[in-house]
Amino acid sequence: MVNWENSFHEIERAKPEIAILPIGAIEQHSYHLPLATDYLAAQALAERVADELDNCYLLPALPFSCSREHGDFFGTVWLRPATLAAVIQDLVGALHHHGISKVALLVAHGGNWIVKPTVREIDLDRKGAHVIFTTPDAFTVEQGEFADLHAGRGETSLIMHLRPDLVKMDKVKPDFSPAQGREFFDYTGIGAVSPTGLWGAPSGASPEEGERNLKEAAQRAAAYIKQTFAEIDRLEAERGPRRN
Ligand SMILES: [Zn+2]
Repeated sequence: MVNWENSFHEIERAKPEIAILPIGAIEQHSYHLPLATDYLAAQALAERVADELDNCYLLPALPFSCSREHGDFFGTVWLRPATLAAVIQDLVGALHHHGISKVALLVAHGGNWIVKPTVREIDLDRKGAHVIFTTPDAFTVEQGEFADLHAGRGETSLIMHLRPDLVKMDKVKPDFSPAQGREFFDYTGIGAVSPTGLWGAPSGASPEEGERNLKEAAQRAAAYIKQTFAEIDRLEAERGPRRN
């Protein structure tokens, strides 16, 4: 594995086959977690995934993405979806320029709906670059009445494991699930349905659970990346050159 701490010469000699681009966010995570929760999650997951892949180039996590739905809360910053799409296209283009045609996006923030059509556009252009989309569903935990959508048990456990110094359990708000559905992230923003910015049950969080979830998410993501690129290669070889 090579990363941004290597020299250009080391990257050139390593000839990495796959690049990993983690995508985080800087957005509110209620009163007890840092704004950087998704950024820290993206980087930590990507480091573990990179360890499981043979020859890859790990990029630093993109700190910003589509967090408009958290705009009621101070410190939250966001990219417009078209901006995120353009950033992904540019970075994939730069990697492809250096002969790295396989890029795995590790998306740690759930609001980045634009990523999927962006992937489709890049891949189906058939200029040889292939981007795949991976998202760590393991950071969210099913808990009956409390959907774990934001700053709940999964994310709290994860940050307790990664950066316990940044978790303020003395500030944690009561477990909460709005009466509305997830689509209200789009219709009103989370602030209107959850004034504390919380959607989930952080009371059940533990660092052990965070460690376990992260390990399992990394194994699942690494396996998915290997299998998916192998399958893309197989299908592309079978299909042969473009017919139209
Ligand atoms: Zn988050």
